[in-house]
Amino acid sequence: MTTTLSPSTPLTAIDRCDRCGAQAYVRVTLTAGGDLLFCGHHFREHEARIRPLASNVLDQTAELSSPSVPSTDDL
Ligand SMILES: [Zn+2]
Repeated sequence: MTTTLSPSTPLTAIDRCDRCGAQAYVRVTLTAGGDLLFCGHHFREHEARIRPLASNVLDQTAELSSPSVPSTDDL
């Protein structure tokens, strides 16, 4: 076991909800191993069932309330 990621690694725009493919704002680390990613909508929908299975929940849904920033991507 040398590949353990930090559970506090922030979610980014490339992390996608496992259910709908929208940008993920919540990462659930399962006690049984593995991660699940959810958008805010699907996390709320499944939260009651997921919480008992989770060893860690990284919730970044607060960022949803941030004003959208115009893209400065100049690639
Ligand atoms: Zn979703």
